[in-house]
Amino acid sequence: MNKQDFNEGLLGFLDASPTPFHATQNMAMMFENAGFIKLEEVDKWELQEGQKYYVTRNDSSIIAFTYPKIRAKYLMVGAHTDSPNLKLKPNPVIKEHGVVKFGVESYGGLLLNPWFDRDLSLAGRVSYLSHDNSVESALINVEKPITVVPSLAIHLDDKANKDKTINKQTDMCPILTTNEAFEFDEFIKWQLDKIGIRDVKEVYAHELSFYDTQKASFIGLHNDFISSARLDNLLSCYTAMVSICSLHVDKAMLFVATDHEEVGSESTSGAGGSFLENTLHRIFDDYEEYTQMVRSSLMISADNAHAIHPNFPSKHDAHHAPYINKGVVLKVNANQRYASNSTTISKFMNVASLLNEPLQNFVTRSDMGCGSTIGPITATRIGIDTIDVGLPTLAMHSIRELAGSEDAHSLYKILVGFQV
Ligand code: ZN
Repeated sequence: MNKQDFNEGLLGFLDASPTPFHATQNMAMMFENAGFIKLEEVDKWELQEGQKYYVTRNDSSIIAFTYPKIRAKYLMVGAHTDSPNLKLKPNPVIKEHGVVKFGVESYGGLLLNPWFDRDLSLAGRVSYLSHDNSVESALINVEKPITVVPSLAIHLDDKANKDKTINKQTDMCPILTTNEAFEFDEFIKWQLDKIGIRDVKEVYAHELSFYDTQKASFIGLHNDFISSARLDNLLSCYTAMVSICSLHVDKAMLFVATDHEEVGSESTSGAGGSFLENTLHRIFDDYEEYTQMVRSSLMISADNAHAIHPNFPSKHDAHHAPYINKGVVLKVNANQRYASNSTTISKFMNVASLLNEPLQNFVTRSDMGCGSTIGPITATRIGIDTIDVGLPTLAMHSIRELAGSEDAHSLYKILVGFQV
């Protein structure tokens, strides 16, 4: 796929995926279109050589894999579907001071300031009781901007540009309407009605998140950058998804995208859960074969990397400071916050060099903490040799992040050309 088509597809995917549920649904749709067969975890699997498959868990994590005749070693690529956001509380409606507003929890390591004064909408999963008394779930996406978290005017806060702190409980409530007759359950039923679901007796529970309605876009004089919400880590999800879709089924590749990375990955659908391990055991039911495959395979954990910020260059180690549009970043951390080691790095470097794709290095400053990824978690859980790589990004965990328009396509070429 050429770079232009690749990047345009990326923008569409970002806009259509405001939550991990929607990202998973969209990836499932892409896999269906590319001939992958849907598996259900609750069914018995009878895999046929020469086919390709996908399976989801909790509607928010997904694994896709080819099942070729020769499958002694797999190239695996891992990413995460979730991003930091403001999440609706179970009893969310607050009516005070002439407005209806929502109570929210912050999910993940959210950069709070950029959430003010944005045109926000709401999306996620809703569970309800149907008229025949079964519990059902559906994804909703309001799409239209319906709420905003207004800033406090500078006249009322003379320290706003000096030492502003934000209280997550009191300062971040999005306001919805001045009509205090608003009923939350009726609002949800209306959203379900819009997608053709009319047999709703009672709304039981929801996992709904706010998102910025501004569309993903190219920015920069020569469209140098891609500006969007959730680049961390839908950028890697998209790149890996397109890569496995482009491959011939003879090549053994597996893509896993899990939820809850931003909050530590410990859940049934997180990388710390059993999803990947269970799936691999079902692909390889013989323990000897399974272990041989795991120890011969390679996991590429793909997540965003901090590009050097041109206004804050001292935040990087000058010798390990990635630039935007200068290639995929190899991430190393002596304390195993990244799972890369010299052999996995060398394998990756060898492929990139054969393909003439540039690479860069990231190591955090020794006097600063380091983020982490699903890499070390998966390496620990499965025992698979792993490398952490990433795409250079600015403003990570902001409501709008910035990446290069060259780098993701470069990673795509490396993944498609990779031989384990
Ligand atoms: Zn991430």
